[in-house]
Amino acid sequence: YRSVGAGAIGLHNFLKKLGMDLKPEEFLLLVFSLQHQQGWGAPFELVEAGDKRIVIRTPQTFESVVLKDWDMPVCGIHQGWIEGILTAVTGKSWYCLEKTCHAKGDPYCEFVCDQVMPSWKFKAEAVVRGESAITEFIEHKPLEGKISLIDEPVVMMPRFIFTSMTQSLKRTMGEAPAGGVNYRAYMDMGKENVEHYKKMGITDPRTLSDMAFAFYSQMGWFHLVSEAWDETTKTKTITLSHTVESESFGITGKNTCFCTAGLLAGIIEGSFGIRVQAREVACKSRGDEHCVFTITNKP
Ligand SMILES: [Zn+2]
Ligand SMILES: [Zn+2]
Repeated sequence: YRSVGAGAIGLHNFLKKLGMDLKPEEFLLLVFSLQHQQGWGAPFELVEAGDKRIVIRTPQTFESVVLKDWDMPVCGIHQGWIEGILTAVTGKSWYCLEKTCHAKGDPYCEFVCDQVMPSWKFKAEAVVRGESAITEFIEHKPLEGKISLIDEPVVMMPRFIFTSMTQSLKRTMGEAPAGGVNYRAYMDMGKENVEHYKKMGITDPRTLSDMAFAFYSQMGWFHLVSEAWDETTKTKTITLSHTVESESFGITGKNTCFCTAGLLAGIIEGSFGIRVQAREVACKSRGDEHCVFTITNKP
Protein backbone atom coordinates (compact mmCIF):
# COMPACT_ATOMS: atom_id res chain seq x y z
CA TYR A 1 0.00 0.00 0.00
CA ARG A 2 2.94 2.29 0.58
CA SER A 3 3.93 1.84 -3.05
CA VAL A 4 0.37 2.71 -4.16
CA GLY A 5 0.78 5.99 -2.27
CA ALA A 6 4.12 6.52 -3.94
CA GLY A 7 2.40 6.31 -7.33
CA ALA A 8 0.83 9.67 -6.51
CA ILE A 9 4.17 11.30 -7.37
CA GLY A 10 3.10 11.26 -11.05
CA LEU A 11 0.03 13.36 -10.26
CA HIS A 12 2.12 15.67 -8.11
CA ASN A 13 4.62 16.29 -10.93
CA PHE A 14 1.79 16.83 -13.39
CA LEU A 15 0.22 19.49 -11.14
CA LYS A 16 3.63 21.13 -10.73
CA LYS A 17 3.92 21.38 -14.52
CA LEU A 18 0.55 23.13 -14.53
CA GLY A 19 1.99 25.62 -12.10
CA MET A 20 0.18 24.26 -9.04
CA ASP A 21 2.77 23.78 -6.34
CA LEU A 22 0.71 22.28 -3.55
CA LYS A 23 1.93 21.87 0.01
CA PRO A 24 2.18 18.20 1.12
CA GLU A 25 -1.00 18.45 3.20
CA GLU A 26 -2.90 20.14 0.35
CA PHE A 27 -1.81 17.43 -2.04
CA LEU A 28 -2.82 14.73 0.45
CA LEU A 29 -6.35 16.15 0.76
CA LEU A 30 -6.58 16.45 -3.02
CA VAL A 31 -5.68 12.79 -3.54
CA PHE A 32 -8.36 11.66 -1.08
CA SER A 33 -11.02 13.98 -2.48
CA LEU A 34 -10.30 12.55 -5.95
CA GLN A 35 -10.64 9.09 -4.46
CA HIS A 36 -13.89 10.08 -2.76
CA GLN A 37 -15.29 11.32 -6.08
CA GLN A 38 -14.73 7.81 -7.39
CA GLY A 39 -16.94 6.48 -4.62
CA TRP A 40 -14.34 5.51 -1.99
CA GLY A 41 -14.65 6.39 1.71
CA ALA A 42 -15.33 9.93 2.83
CA PRO A 43 -13.46 13.21 2.24
CA PHE A 44 -10.65 14.13 4.64
CA GLU A 45 -10.26 17.35 6.55
CA LEU A 46 -7.07 18.91 7.82
CA VAL A 47 -6.66 19.08 11.61
CA GLU A 48 -3.06 20.20 11.88
CA ALA A 49 -0.20 20.88 9.46
CA GLY A 50 3.43 21.61 10.18
CA ASP A 51 6.81 20.72 8.66
CA LYS A 52 7.10 17.59 10.75
CA ARG A 53 3.53 16.72 11.64
CA ILE A 54 0.34 16.52 9.63
CA VAL A 55 -2.97 15.38 11.12
CA ILE A 56 -5.99 14.60 8.94
CA ARG A 57 -9.33 12.98 9.67
CA THR A 58 -12.45 11.60 8.06
CA PRO A 59 -15.73 10.32 9.52
CA GLN A 60 -15.13 6.89 7.94
CA THR A 61 -13.09 4.98 5.39
CA PHE A 62 -14.12 2.00 3.30
CA GLU A 63 -12.08 -0.15 5.69
CA SER A 64 -13.83 1.12 8.82
CA VAL A 65 -17.23 0.58 7.18
CA VAL A 66 -16.43 -3.03 6.32
CA LEU A 67 -14.73 -3.79 9.66
CA LYS A 68 -16.92 -1.61 11.87
CA ASP A 69 -17.46 -4.27 14.57
CA TRP A 70 -13.77 -4.87 15.21
CA ASP A 71 -13.52 -2.34 18.04
CA MET A 72 -9.97 -1.35 17.07
CA PRO A 73 -8.24 0.89 14.49
CA VAL A 74 -8.54 -0.98 11.19
CA CYS A 75 -7.51 1.52 8.51
CA GLY A 76 -4.04 0.16 7.77
CA ILE A 77 -4.47 0.57 4.03
CA HIS A 78 -5.08 4.28 4.49
CA GLN A 79 -2.12 4.54 6.86
CA GLY A 80 0.07 3.02 4.17
CA TRP A 81 -1.33 5.27 1.42
CA ILE A 82 -0.88 8.42 3.49
CA GLU A 83 2.68 7.45 4.37
CA GLY A 84 3.46 6.62 0.75
CA ILE A 85 2.03 9.89 -0.58
CA LEU A 86 3.84 12.07 1.98
CA THR A 87 7.11 10.21 1.49
CA ALA A 88 6.83 10.55 -2.29
CA VAL A 89 6.03 14.26 -2.42
CA THR A 90 8.45 15.38 0.31
CA GLY A 91 11.28 12.93 -0.33
CA LYS A 92 11.44 12.28 3.42
CA SER A 93 10.28 9.39 5.63
CA TRP A 94 6.91 9.65 7.29
CA TYR A 95 5.24 7.44 9.85
CA CYS A 96 1.46 7.48 9.92
CA LEU A 97 -0.60 6.16 12.81
CA GLU A 98 -4.37 5.95 13.07
CA LYS A 99 -5.06 7.38 16.54
CA THR A 100 -8.86 7.12 16.54
CA CYS A 101 -11.06 5.03 14.27
CA HIS A 102 -14.70 4.85 13.27
CA ALA A 103 -14.43 1.04 13.68
CA LYS A 104 -13.47 1.59 17.33
CA GLY A 105 -16.58 3.72 17.89
CA ASP A 106 -14.73 7.07 17.58
CA PRO A 107 -16.37 9.94 15.66
CA TYR A 108 -13.45 10.11 13.22
CA CYS A 109 -10.66 8.06 11.74
CA GLU A 110 -7.81 10.39 12.61
CA PHE A 111 -4.37 9.88 11.11
CA VAL A 112 -1.32 11.45 12.73
CA CYS A 113 1.68 11.60 10.42
CA ASP A 114 5.14 12.37 11.73
CA GLN A 115 8.23 12.96 9.69
CA VAL A 116 10.71 10.45 11.13
CA MET A 117 14.10 8.92 10.62
CA PRO A 118 13.47 5.72 8.69
CA SER A 119 13.66 3.26 11.50
CA TRP A 120 12.88 -0.31 12.39
CA LYS A 121 13.03 0.68 16.03
CA PHE A 122 10.24 3.21 15.70
CA LYS A 123 7.85 0.67 14.17
CA ALA A 124 8.80 -2.08 16.60
CA GLU A 125 8.18 0.19 19.57
CA ALA A 126 4.71 1.05 18.27
CA VAL A 127 3.97 -2.70 18.21
CA VAL A 128 5.11 -3.05 21.83
CA ARG A 129 2.95 -0.12 22.93
CA GLY A 130 0.00 -1.88 21.30
CA GLU A 131 -0.49 1.00 18.83
CA SER A 132 0.39 -1.03 15.76
CA ALA A 133 -0.26 -4.57 14.67
CA ILE A 134 2.59 -6.49 13.04
CA THR A 135 0.31 -7.08 10.04
CA GLU A 136 0.80 -3.41 9.12
CA PHE A 137 4.48 -4.15 8.48
CA ILE A 138 4.14 -7.38 6.53
CA GLU A 139 5.30 -7.10 2.95
CA HIS A 140 3.95 -10.08 1.03
CA LYS A 141 5.14 -11.01 -2.45
CA PRO A 142 3.15 -14.21 -2.97
CA LEU A 143 4.25 -14.82 -6.54
CA GLU A 144 7.91 -14.54 -5.55
CA GLY A 145 7.39 -16.72 -2.48
CA LYS A 146 8.61 -13.99 -0.13
CA ILE A 147 7.30 -12.45 3.07
CA SER A 148 9.03 -9.91 5.24
CA LEU A 149 8.13 -8.35 8.56
CA ILE A 150 9.65 -4.89 9.10
CA ASP A 151 12.22 -5.51 6.35
CA GLU A 152 13.19 -8.86 7.88
CA PRO A 153 12.49 -12.05 5.89
CA VAL A 154 10.04 -14.35 7.71
CA VAL A 155 8.21 -17.59 6.95
CA MET A 156 4.67 -18.65 7.76
CA MET A 157 4.11 -22.20 8.89
CA PRO A 158 1.10 -24.25 9.94
CA ARG A 159 0.66 -24.77 13.68
CA PHE A 160 0.49 -28.57 13.33
CA ILE A 161 4.22 -28.47 12.68
CA PHE A 162 4.55 -28.62 16.49
CA THR A 163 2.75 -31.94 16.79
CA SER A 164 4.51 -33.32 13.75
CA MET A 165 8.00 -32.28 14.87
CA THR A 166 7.53 -33.42 18.46
CA GLN A 167 6.11 -36.81 17.42
CA SER A 168 9.04 -37.38 15.13
CA LEU A 169 11.57 -36.39 17.83
CA LYS A 170 9.83 -38.68 20.35
CA ARG A 171 10.02 -41.59 17.93
CA THR A 172 13.72 -41.11 17.31
CA MET A 173 14.95 -40.32 20.81
CA GLY A 174 12.18 -40.98 23.36
CA GLU A 175 9.79 -38.63 25.11
CA ALA A 176 11.95 -37.00 27.81
CA PRO A 177 14.96 -36.26 25.59
CA ALA A 178 12.62 -34.88 22.91
CA GLY A 179 11.23 -32.37 25.43
CA GLY A 180 14.79 -31.39 26.39
CA VAL A 181 15.89 -30.91 22.79
CA ASN A 182 12.86 -28.74 22.01
CA TYR A 183 13.44 -26.67 25.13
CA ARG A 184 17.10 -26.12 24.26
CA ALA A 185 16.47 -25.32 20.60
CA TYR A 186 13.77 -22.75 21.34
CA MET A 187 15.87 -21.21 24.09
CA ASP A 188 18.64 -20.58 21.55
CA MET A 189 16.08 -19.19 19.15
CA GLY A 190 14.66 -16.80 21.78
CA LYS A 191 18.16 -15.57 22.59
CA GLU A 192 19.07 -15.07 18.97
CA ASN A 193 15.86 -13.17 18.41
CA VAL A 194 16.77 -10.73 21.17
CA GLU A 195 20.28 -10.34 19.68
CA HIS A 196 18.60 -9.31 16.46
CA TYR A 197 16.60 -6.59 18.24
CA LYS A 198 19.82 -5.35 19.85
CA LYS A 199 21.34 -4.87 16.40
CA MET A 200 18.37 -2.62 15.60
CA GLY A 201 19.52 -0.28 18.36
CA ILE A 202 17.26 -1.41 21.19
CA THR A 203 19.20 -1.82 24.43
CA ASP A 204 16.82 -1.57 27.38
CA PRO A 205 16.29 -5.13 28.76
CA ARG A 206 12.64 -4.55 29.66
CA THR A 207 11.89 -3.20 26.15
CA LEU A 208 13.74 -6.12 24.58
CA SER A 209 11.72 -8.74 26.44
CA ASP A 210 8.41 -6.86 26.02
CA MET A 211 9.17 -6.59 22.33
CA ALA A 212 9.80 -10.32 21.94
CA PHE A 213 6.62 -11.17 23.89
CA ALA A 214 4.56 -8.71 21.82
CA PHE A 215 5.90 -10.02 18.51
CA TYR A 216 5.46 -13.72 19.31
CA SER A 217 2.03 -13.08 20.75
CA GLN A 218 0.92 -11.16 17.66
CA MET A 219 2.31 -13.95 15.49
CA GLY A 220 -0.06 -16.39 17.19
CA TRP A 221 2.31 -18.24 19.52
CA PHE A 222 0.54 -17.41 22.78
CA HIS A 223 -1.48 -14.81 24.60
CA LEU A 224 0.03 -13.24 27.69
CA VAL A 225 -2.45 -13.23 30.60
CA SER A 226 -0.20 -12.01 33.38
CA GLU A 227 3.32 -11.70 34.71
CA ALA A 228 4.19 -11.72 38.39
CA TRP A 229 7.38 -11.45 40.44
CA ASP A 230 7.83 -13.02 43.86
CA GLU A 231 10.66 -11.33 45.72
CA THR A 232 11.07 -13.98 48.47
CA THR A 233 11.56 -16.89 46.08
CA LYS A 234 13.00 -14.68 43.28
CA THR A 235 10.57 -16.34 40.91
CA LYS A 236 8.90 -14.82 37.88
CA THR A 237 5.59 -16.39 36.90
CA ILE A 238 4.25 -16.03 33.36
CA THR A 239 0.68 -17.12 32.61
CA LEU A 240 -0.34 -17.73 28.99
CA SER A 241 -3.95 -18.32 27.98
CA HIS A 242 -2.95 -20.55 25.11
CA THR A 243 0.31 -21.67 23.61
CA VAL A 244 1.05 -22.95 20.15
CA GLU A 245 1.68 -26.47 21.52
CA SER A 246 -1.34 -26.74 23.82
CA GLU A 247 -3.58 -25.57 20.98
CA SER A 248 -1.94 -27.90 18.53
CA PHE A 249 -1.87 -31.01 20.79
CA GLY A 250 -5.17 -30.50 22.61
CA ILE A 251 -5.77 -32.41 25.86
CA THR A 252 -3.10 -35.07 26.35
CA GLY A 253 -3.04 -35.30 30.16
CA LYS A 254 0.58 -34.07 30.16
CA ASN A 255 2.54 -30.82 29.89
CA THR A 256 3.33 -30.18 26.24
CA CYS A 257 4.88 -26.70 26.11
CA PHE A 258 8.62 -27.43 26.01
CA CYS A 259 9.20 -25.14 23.03
CA THR A 260 7.37 -22.24 24.68
CA ALA A 261 9.19 -22.80 27.99
CA GLY A 262 12.51 -22.67 26.13
CA LEU A 263 11.46 -19.61 24.17
CA LEU A 264 10.51 -17.71 27.35
CA ALA A 265 13.81 -18.66 28.99
CA GLY A 266 15.78 -17.60 25.90
CA ILE A 267 14.02 -14.24 25.64
CA ILE A 268 14.74 -13.48 29.30
CA GLU A 269 18.33 -14.71 29.12
CA GLY A 270 18.99 -12.66 25.99
CA SER A 271 17.29 -9.52 27.27
CA PHE A 272 18.67 -9.40 30.80
CA GLY A 273 21.98 -11.18 30.26
CA ILE A 274 21.30 -13.73 33.01
CA ARG A 275 20.99 -17.53 33.09
CA VAL A 276 17.52 -18.84 33.89
CA GLN A 277 15.49 -22.02 34.05
CA ALA A 278 11.87 -22.05 32.84
CA ARG A 279 9.44 -24.72 34.09
CA GLU A 280 5.88 -25.29 33.04
CA VAL A 281 3.89 -25.81 36.26
CA ALA A 282 0.37 -25.89 34.76
CA CYS A 283 -0.64 -26.74 31.21
CA LYS A 284 -3.83 -26.52 29.19
CA SER A 285 -2.96 -29.88 27.63
CA ARG A 286 -3.05 -31.35 31.14
CA GLY A 287 -6.51 -29.88 31.68
CA ASP A 288 -5.42 -26.72 33.55
CA GLU A 289 -7.06 -23.41 32.73
CA HIS A 290 -3.84 -21.80 31.48
CA CYS A 291 -0.24 -22.70 30.80
CA VAL A 292 1.82 -21.30 33.67
CA PHE A 293 5.61 -21.00 33.62
CA THR A 294 7.99 -20.20 36.46
CA ILE A 295 11.32 -18.60 35.65
CA THR A 296 14.12 -18.85 38.18
CA ASN A 297 17.77 -17.91 38.19
CA LYS A 298 20.14 -20.67 37.26
CA PRO A 299 23.12 -20.75 39.63
ZN1 LIG B 1 -10.37 3.99 10.77
ZN1 LIG C 1 1.18 -25.79 28.21
